[in-house]
Amino acid sequence: AAKASGKRTWRRFKPQQRVLVVERHDLRVRLDHVVSKEEFGLLYQPVVGIDNGGIVGFEALARWPELGPDPVPPGQFIPLAEETGHISTLGAWVLRKATADMARLQHRSPGRVPPYLSVNVSARQWRDTGFLDEVCTALDTTGLAAGTLQLELTESVLMQRTPQIDAQIQALKDRGVRIAVDDFGTGYSSLRYLRDFPIDVLKIDKSFVDGLPEDPQQVALVEGIVHLADTLGLQVIAEGIEEEPQRELLALVGCRYGQGFLFARPLTVEQGEAMLREHEGVGPRAGGERPWR
Ligand code: C2E
Ligand code: MG
Ligand code: MG
Ligand code: MG
Repeated sequence: AAKASGKRTWRRFKPQQRVLVVERHDLRVRLDHVVSKEEFGLLYQPVVGIDNGGIVGFEALARWPELGPDPVPPGQFIPLAEETGHISTLGAWVLRKATADMARLQHRSPGRVPPYLSVNVSARQWRDTGFLDEVCTALDTTGLAAGTLQLELTESVLMQRTPQIDAQIQALKDRGVRIAVDDFGTGYSSLRYLRDFPIDVLKIDKSFVDGLPEDPQQVALVEGIVHLADTLGLQVIAEGIEEEPQRELLALVGCRYGQGFLFARPLTVEQGEAMLREHEGVGPRAGGERPWR
């Protein structure tokens, strides 16, 4: 169509579109470079008890290398890494680094229930036949107890299940690894998988938490998810809690765990350890119930 309408048509190509194409190409080149050097950053956001703020776990979150100019947010480079296949390299790196960091941190925090590690795993990684081996090697190499590892998947993975993905997940479950559904409620999926699939945890997406406590429909949805999870024996974590009234409402409807800027932003491993020490008295105690199991 462009050709047929004359040779000057290209001038009408929206300048903004050109910028986007160039930026994407530029980002791709930069991603190639970062991946080849494995020079990502990694932060840890505490998962806490809604009632007392005690840390029960940490979610590993990848970051563009800190020293680089104009850091690219994960919302941009993760989807690109998924498209280009770089997510396999990035994901393997995150797994190795996070298990090593958390194994060390657990060793230095005796006398309390070790905080668990939660790692985001993209659909492409689940389809990778080497993924199970990667996880097992990371656990064996670092000595991190499998029972303190949680892997997050999105509803899209549950909708694209294959016998091979199911087998990998079952093998991980057999080792004691927990499976969490991330961004719960935002995907196009049926609720049937909650019954048919060995899930341990639902992470309620921030978009549901945002409307709390004013929006009665959001309140009803969150309350419904918590009750559903209770009935099915699943644990619930609310994501993106920023305000105290949101926390209160979530506590009121029986949600026991949360994550969000109200409690803590994603932290360096050193900051995470410092916060763990500050909260010594409010965290779960060794020998007691493991409240997050
Ligand atoms: P996610 O797994 O749902 O992670 C939660 C995101 O919400 C994180 O964004 C976190 O920093 C942010 N967040 C937490 N609490 C609050 C809050 O109170 N307010 C607001 N506004 N935001 C909050 P982040 O780090 O930018 O990561 C975005 C997404 O990128 C993640 O969403 C996850 O899907 C993906 N991602 C990050 N790291 C990895 C990784 O290592 N592997 C894979 N496959 N995906 C990753
Ligand atoms: Mg996540
Ligand atoms: Mg999430
Ligand atoms: Mg999210």
